Parts: sequence; C-alpha cells; structure tokens
Amino acid sequence: MAIKDQPRPPRARLVSNILLLLSSAFLLVNLFLPNLFGPRIPQVPYSLFIHQVQQQEVTSVYVGQNQIQYQLKGEDGKPGQVLSTTPIFDLELPKLLESKGVEFAAAPPPKNGWFTSLLGWVIPPLIFVAVYQFFARRGGFGGPQGALSITKSKARVYVEGESAKTTFKDVAGVEEAKTELVEIVEFLKTPERFTQIGARIPKGVLLVGPPGTGKTLLAKAVAGEAGVPFFSISGSEFVELFVGAGAARVRDLFEQAKKQAPCIIFIDELDAIGKSRSSNGFYGGNDEREQTLNQLLTEMDGFAAGSATVIVLAATNRPESLDPALLRPGRFDRQVLVDRPDLAGREAILKIHAQKVKLGADVDLRAIATRTPGFAGADLANLINEAALLAARNRREAVAQADLAEAIERVVAGLEKKSRVLNDKEKKIVAYHEVGHALVGYAMPGGGQVEKISIVPRGMAALGYTLQLPTEDRFLMDEAELRGQIATLLGGRSAEEIVFGSITTGAANDLQRATDLAERMVTTYGMSQVLGPLAYQQGQQAMFLGNEGANPRRMVSEQTAQDIDKEVKEIVETAHRQALDIIQQNRELLETIANQLLETEVIEGDKLHSLLNQVQPAHLLNNGSAKPIAAS
Ligand code: ADP
Ligand code: MG
Ligand code: ZN
Repeated sequence: MAIKDQPRPPRARLVSNILLLLSSAFLLVNLFLPNLFGPRIPQVPYSLFIHQVQQQEVTSVYVGQNQIQYQLKGEDGKPGQVLSTTPIFDLELPKLLESKGVEFAAAPPPKNGWFTSLLGWVIPPLIFVAVYQFFARRGGFGGPQGALSITKSKARVYVEGESAKTTFKDVAGVEEAKTELVEIVEFLKTPERFTQIGARIPKGVLLVGPPGTGKTLLAKAVAGEAGVPFFSISGSEFVELFVGAGAARVRDLFEQAKKQAPCIIFIDELDAIGKSRSSNGFYGGNDEREQTLNQLLTEMDGFAAGSATVIVLAATNRPESLDPALLRPGRFDRQVLVDRPDLAGREAILKIHAQKVKLGADVDLRAIATRTPGFAGADLANLINEAALLAARNRREAVAQADLAEAIERVVAGLEKKSRVLNDKEKKIVAYHEVGHALVGYAMPGGGQVEKISIVPRGMAALGYTLQLPTEDRFLMDEAELRGQIATLLGGRSAEEIVFGSITTGAANDLQRATDLAERMVTTYGMSQVLGPLAYQQGQQAMFLGNEGANPRRMVSEQTAQDIDKEVKEIVETAHRQALDIIQQNRELLETIANQLLETEVIEGDKLHSLLNQVQPAHLLNNGSAKPIAAS
C-alpha cells in the first residue's frame, strides 16, 4: 500500500521563506531605525527637566506620549542644546510651562514619519503571518501542505496498490460488521444500480466498538474491496487547531474527496469533534469543536443524493457521548457494531497474523484462542508478535506453543519487571495474599481454572498475581458464579487477615472490583430478592465497552438507595465470610503453598493443580447457609 502525502507546492514554500526573511528584516529596521538615522538626543532625568524649566532655561517643549523633547536657551539668543526625558504622569506640567513662559506643544510628527508609520502598519501583520507560517511548517497546526495553505486538509490519501491492499480477508472475527459493510462496497462499486431504483445511498456509517477491534482496518478494507481512494483523518487532530481552522479543513477535505469520487472519507475518533454540544456546556462550550462539528454536518448534508458517491465512515468507542445531531437520518444513520471477537473469531484472527511468522509444529492456535477471551484483534496481533520476539530471543527457529503461552501473560499483565524488589516482609504478605486468591478461586465456581500464582511484580501496579483462565468462552454467568468471583477477589485480603491479623493497602483494587460486581448483581442483573428484577442503573449501552463501573444510578427513592447499599454490602460480606471460611479450612495448605511460592516465586501447571487438588471445600457452602442472603 502506498501512502501519499499531498505534494507541497515548492513555490509556495519559497514564497513563505522570503516572507519570513523580509518581515524579520523589517522588524529589525523598525526597532533600530530611529536610533540609527535620527539625531542622538541626550536623555536626562525628569527632575532635571523640571529644575531647568523652573530656572527658565528652557525655550520650547514638545510633549510626546513616551518622550519629552525640549530645547535649552543658548548663549546670545541662539538655540541651545536639545534634550529629552521620559515623562511621568504630571497634570501640573502645562501650568508650570505656561507660568514660565515656555513655548510648548505636542510632539511633532517624526521626520521620516510616513516611512515609520508605513512600517508600523505593515510589519505587525507580516510578523503574524511569519509566525503562523513557522508553526504551520513545523506541523503544529497545519498540514504538510503548501505553507500558504495552512488550513488545507491534512487527510492522508491511501491509494491502494494492487500488491498489498487491505481487503476483508485481512479482517476476521467481526462477521456481522463485515456483512453490513459488504453492502457499502456495493454502493461504491455500482452506485447506478441503487440510484436507478431511487434508493438513497447512505452517506455516513459509524463503526462503534472498543479500541483495537479493527475499525480502522475495516474502513481500509472497504476502500480496498471497492478499489476507491481512502481519505483518512483523525478527530483528535482537529482539537488543537485555531478557531476556524478545523472547519476550513473539513470543507477542504470534502472538496478534495468530491473530486476523487467515488471514495471514502474515514474520520477516526469521531468523538473528539462530535462530543455532545450540551454535555460541555458547563465550561461554556468549545467554539472550535462546535464549528468543526457544524461544518461536518453541513458538508454531510451538502452532497446531494445521486451526485458523487462519497461515503463517510467514522469510528468511535464512545457512541454515547456523540452529539445526537450526528446520528440523524442522512448523516451517520447507520451504526455498525465492531465488538471483541469470540472463540472462533479469535482463532481466525490469530491465523491471519500467524501467517507473518514461522510457526513450530506443536503450535495449537485453537488452544491459544481458548485462553484469550476478551482480547481484541489488536491484542491478538500483539500476542503473535510478542511470541515471535520471545522465540527469537530464545534462538528458536520457529515460534513454539510455549512462546505463545508466555506471550499471553505478557499481553495480559505487562512485561515482567524483575527489577522491582520487594522486601522480605512484603514478599511474604504478597505470597499469602495471592495464595488466598488461588484457594478461594479453586473452591468457588465462576472464575475458571487457577493456572498460575506469581509474586514476580509485573506491569505498573500488580505486586503479584493469580492467573485464572476460563476453560471456555462464557457469555452468561449465574448468580453462584458471580458470588464465587466476589469471594475469590476477597480471598487475598482474607488470607492477610487470618495470617497476619492486619490488612495492607494491597487489596484496594480487589475490593473495588468486588464491590462493583456486587453492585451490578443488585442494580443491573436483578439478582437481589429484596430489590427484585429491576434495573437501577442507566446507560446500558456503554456496558460492552468495558466501562461498567461508570453507569450512574437511576433516580431512586432514598429508601431504595438504602436497600441497594444494604444488599451490596450483604453480598460482599457474605462472600468475605465464605473466603475466610475456605482459608480457615485450608490453613495448612495455605502455609505449604505460600512457602513454596516464596522459594520459587512462581507456581504453575501440574504442580499447582496437584497442590490445589487438596483444597477442602468450605463449610458455609455445604450447609447451604450461603444462599439466603436477604433472609438473615
Ligand atoms: P481500532 O481502529 O478498532 O482501534 P485497528 O483497526 O487500528 O483497531 O486495529 C489495529 C490492528 O490490530 C490492525 O492493524 C490489525 O493488525 C489488528 N486487528 C484488529 N482487529 C482485527 C481483526 N478483526 N482482524 C484482524 N486483525 C485485526
Ligand atoms: Mg483505529
Ligand atoms: Zn489481590
């Protein structure tokens, strides 16, 4: 694929350079001219001037705004020396001068007045232009384009070369999205077929989905399949522009595109310009963004049906924040969901990216796909690359299954940071904490198989971690599994409580997640007997984008709010009791595993499984007292 920037006209660049030079030359001249060519007038203190006036040594005074020039009496009635002083604010001066019989007037126009004033008028704009050009050329707010066309569109045009063009074959795991976009490809290829019958070709298609799921890739694939030019620009590029420049760019972008129709305009991160205009009212609005947005709407409304086929694709991961005006008919009225891939999709994506690396005979991509639920396409591409890097580091000929397995962990938890050293006490606490998670996770349903416990710090925050991998893709969870997950999250803290009798700050994130989960059970999934099957949260559409915690509660009565709080607390506390119980039951096993962990830092695989097989189930689970949460 060839990426072409719009060529910058060399002449425009030359002109701008000359302008820059000229205007700085003028600036220098303007600053120093009076001193260079004007007579040098000695400067004296104001007090001396007043003194000389009072002594009647002064014949005439020119009072300027920034300077007073005056002439002393010379000998024998000849004109004397000319002096100057800097005025201070003195209303009495005219009176004084008058009383001493001094001739005075406002300052005369300077000798080379027309020239200086011309400079005064010409130079500021020139300087402005020069500075503007300077930034434009550095790319600060402008294009790589001709320096004189600072507002020109920065959109890159991808002209797909035959050899390396992106097509639907390069995208997997998003079958529904592909099906919908096939239609768009048809529109671009044979618009007549649709317009003949009088069908209106859609102008805007919004790709909605979490980051890394392949929205940009899909847009390119549509262009590739249809064989049309692809203009791409990112919404965030508009944000730092001067007022007005963003709108001009939108106009220019559409102009260029219309000339090349049929073609695709792709606006990435649409939410950066398309944020709801009402939502930022508190800060008095953002003029620039609003103008850019308005221009975009105008342009989209502008091209009439039946004329040039320009289809605007846009991508966002925050559809709920978009201005409703963008979603009206005739604008982005089609929305295509690009969600994270399921098991089969992940396997297909892995296959696509694995073509670029050498795979060993033992590689089983299906198994890798099974262990990576929740990964987006970009994460999977990253995983393959990490595995290839690992294989190269280990001087292997091809990527082995072990490389892929290790790459999963890298992608999940960030790179190993062996450099961060915990002291012995901390290490011990982390070890017991993680084993606590593992024991409860093993005993309770819902979390999947415990695959690894580690006290090697990883990434930014985690001091240790327990890796629980699901054995299959799950779309539904029942109440018992959710309760199991909450208990598992509390397992770390519970172990700390039992072993050390005190609590550290290390469990903050666990508690946060446990509480969120419990709140969702009550307010979203209707799993509380007290509150019944009602949804107490708003904005469900944001859920699939992974920011579940952020939904505000619906307006509820104070009584209901209290009930919710009580239920959430009850769920978390019950889970806590279960976790404590499980750990108490397995106190010796906890010691055994924690001590081993302190020695080896990591326990995984069969060794871990055989240890966890000795876990005794909890009392509370057996006698059934875990169930009736609301009753007690
Ligand atoms: P988004 O625009 O949704 O954030 P991108 O399209 O930029 O995601 O994806 C980044 C990269 O991840 C792509 O270039 C591609 O290599 C890989 N990728 C993402 N999704 C997919 C997919 N569904 N199929 C194949 N590769 C994908
Ligand atoms: Mg993208
Ligand atoms: Zn923890």
